[in-house]
Amino acid sequence: MDKIFSSLMEELKKRQFKPYYAENKEEAVRTVLSVIDEEMAKKGKTEKEMQISFGGSRTLSEIDVYSAIEKYNVLDPYAFPTRQEQHEAKRRALLSDVFLMSANALCESGEIVNIDGNGNRLGAMICGPDKVVMVVGKNKIVKDKASAMERIKTIACVKNAQRLSRKTPCAEKGKCESCLISGQTICGHTVYTRYSSIPERIVVILVNEELGF
Ligand code: SF4
Repeated sequence: MDKIFSSLMEELKKRQFKPYYAENKEEAVRTVLSVIDEEMAKKGKTEKEMQISFGGSRTLSEIDVYSAIEKYNVLDPYAFPTRQEQHEAKRRALLSDVFLMSANALCESGEIVNIDGNGNRLGAMICGPDKVVMVVGKNKIVKDKASAMERIKTIACVKNAQRLSRKTPCAEKGKCESCLISGQTICGHTVYTRYSSIPERIVVILVNEELGF
């Protein structure tokens, strides 16, 4: 394991996060499943009783975690046809047993930085499911919070806004202009997560591959 990962794992532990290291996508998926199964055993639930939900994430798609979790009771808010139904599913997802997501940036200090559009992902992370599992590729590791914001505004937001066909300065010019364009901006909530008050509720799986934006 590279020194950057071992050092980061120590920093994450100090902040009461639960870190894991995965060499590649396959190991990351196995780790996700082992965390879910451990939580399932703790709760005495069956696979079909374990509700698993997730936030929108290119990383989760790239590791193909979705096919691996089909055996559980999956709540996919994005599978609903209307915005209203999706909104309601996102609210129900806050009471899932396990919530999967990635992070937009992870500082060497162990602080996690995210920006959300409507906040369902961050609402779940802050005070939702009993277990939150983040899968983070090595490309998301940055020096500090300033570098995190730089990364998010020049890489993550640009690619996400383009993916969502938003008409924003970042999508069109590759540059953030702090837009407030109704129905277009993807930057609603910026959250710095420095500590988990419930020990080991937030699991961070560090993956030695580039994943997501
Ligand atoms: S504030 Fe607007 S321009 Fe800036 S990154 Fe967010 S969506 Fe893009």
